[in-house]
Amino acid sequence: MIHNFNAGPSILPREVFEEASQAVLNFNNTGLSILELGHRTPVFQAVIDEAIALVKELMHLDDQHEVLFLHGGASTQFFQVPMNLLNENEVAAYTDTGVWASKAIKEAKLYGHVEVVCSGKESGYRQLPKNFQFPRTAKYLHLTSNNTIYGTQWHDYSAFYNAGVPLVCDMSSDILSCELDFNKFDLIYAGAQKNVGAAGVNLVIVKKDILGKVDRQLPTMMDYRNHIENGSLLNTPPVFAIYVCMLTLRWLKAQGGVSAIEKINNQKAALLYNTIDALPIFKGTVAKEDRSKMNVCFVIEDPALEKAFLDTCKENGMIGVKGHRSSGGFRVSLYNAMTLGSVEALTSLMHDFAKKNG
Ligand SMILES: *Cc1c(COP(=O)(O)O)cnc(C)c1O
Repeated sequence: MIHNFNAGPSILPREVFEEASQAVLNFNNTGLSILELGHRTPVFQAVIDEAIALVKELMHLDDQHEVLFLHGGASTQFFQVPMNLLNENEVAAYTDTGVWASKAIKEAKLYGHVEVVCSGKESGYRQLPKNFQFPRTAKYLHLTSNNTIYGTQWHDYSAFYNAGVPLVCDMSSDILSCELDFNKFDLIYAGAQKNVGAAGVNLVIVKKDILGKVDRQLPTMMDYRNHIENGSLLNTPPVFAIYVCMLTLRWLKAQGGVSAIEKINNQKAALLYNTIDALPIFKGTVAKEDRSKMNVCFVIEDPALEKAFLDTCKENGMIGVKGHRSSGGFRVSLYNAMTLGSVEALTSLMHDFAKKNG
């Protein structure tokens, strides 16, 4: 058995793989593959309608919020957001909490002024910044909810909710993993390949009234309003990737929705962090209060044992445990589809390894 702890693209529920593979051969008994289906057919319209309805239902969105499925991954949103929201002479506030946040900052600077209101750089991004203020004149405040590479995650949004400016959030690696008041955000985006589905599509949730306020000319494909008007069918959408999202969202609903999956996610994270803390040979790399429940980063105290631990993981079918190339050590991703059983298998392996090498 393989336990897939990859950070992205990552594990999806077994049922989703089975149903998606069936649909490649014969989609809903149409005699056609999902891969050859026209995107303007009633059968595909039903897929995208259901995907949008499930996002709205699972996130409890109000009718001011539109749900879009767009191309280009989260990295396209790094520039599409400022293109649509920020005039050249205006300021946007950004939080610098890691690699992805820094990339979002770099792109935003192409379109207007960026004020970095806080940075975790000094702590090597192993701690989230505390005590910061937002310029009330900012056009919006940009956050990264979960920092996939360093393993930090915001757990308290009250300061942001009270910032008094529109909130934009990159939720690529923790969307739908825990309950949040999603209506408090004006724009949310997430590459699907971590918690929502297959690579190739980006989930964007936008509050209509923040759009249409910039002076610049927007290319047709870059203007969110065109995608809203066309129900995410402005051009050929990533049909298969959207289908896989729909199946994953259906699965999530069948699990009991976000509140139910959050309970399991809490158990998985608690089990793994408690194991790291209990075994002296391992050490968590992130400040305890900022630890991510999705990406758990840790190191082994004796670097000579690092390779031995990775080899042991591999021998036992545990893949994706190696840390990101920029931070080293280990990173274990615990997205929604990861089972508690797989985390138990890993923690028992860690106990055995510590006994032999401690
Ligand atoms: C993976 C990731 C991205 C990049 O996503 P792409 O779809 O590859 O562009 C952006 N932000 C966060 C937080 C991520 O984890």
